[in-house]
Amino acid sequence: MDSELARATSLLLGANDVAPVFEQNAAGRSPFLFTSDHYGRLIPEALSDLGLPEHELTRHIAWDIGIAGVAERLARYLDAHLIAQRYSRLVIDCNRPPHVASSIPRLSEATIIPGNEGLSREDAEARRREVFDPYHRRIDQIIDQRLRDRRLTILVSLHSFTPVYAGGARPWHIGTLYHHDTTLPPLLLKALRAEGDLVVGDNKPYAVSDETDYTIPKHGEARGIVNTGIEIRQDLIADESSQQQWAERLARILAEIEATLRPALMV
Ligand SMILES: [Zn+2]
Repeated sequence: MDSELARATSLLLGANDVAPVFEQNAAGRSPFLFTSDHYGRLIPEALSDLGLPEHELTRHIAWDIGIAGVAERLARYLDAHLIAQRYSRLVIDCNRPPHVASSIPRLSEATIIPGNEGLSREDAEARRREVFDPYHRRIDQIIDQRLRDRRLTILVSLHSFTPVYAGGARPWHIGTLYHHDTTLPPLLLKALRAEGDLVVGDNKPYAVSDETDYTIPKHGEARGIVNTGIEIRQDLIADESSQQQWAERLARILAEIEATLRPALMV
């Protein structure tokens, strides 16, 4: 379907809404492929802010605060391809299987999402078809292409987490998230701990599972691609200079990991 026809048959995205997929450095030569499921906090015009006030739409429930600035810089420093999704996780969560309740949440932390109450099946499917599917289809296409070209590919899913959730403070500065991959996460944990000044979460604040995640199970594990998630605490990447510092630090660490992994993965 060409994009004009897609617009004409759209139930959700209109003429004033941008495409869900954001890409940077698509010709990047790095083995790292970065994804950012919660990169943006846009709401399609037709959804009228989901019935939420502005202060809710800028909170962590709507997106991963700070990660866009880290992800873009990191992709640039490593000459890596970044694929990100611009719409809010409150529209549809691109890191949840579409059949689970938290895919289109009616409640997030303690906030009721009025625009997600009593959603028709058709409306839910439109969110999947117009936001979720194009993003994951693009990641799929890029991985297909890389495999066809026999390019080394290391998938890193970038996230950030709120320092306080439901009243509980989180001590970690950064965490790795993983499930079945036993190659990359131990290397990353070791490198982060060796920094000396970081409180590092081993599968904290979240662990990956098939029910609560989508990107790593679908694009990493199911395809046999070395992968990890990275979660950075949001108060540490709240402004541009801290985003730059974290991107520089992660670029250095990931470049070292690439040098370690490359011989083993090229066999
Ligand atoms: Zn996230």
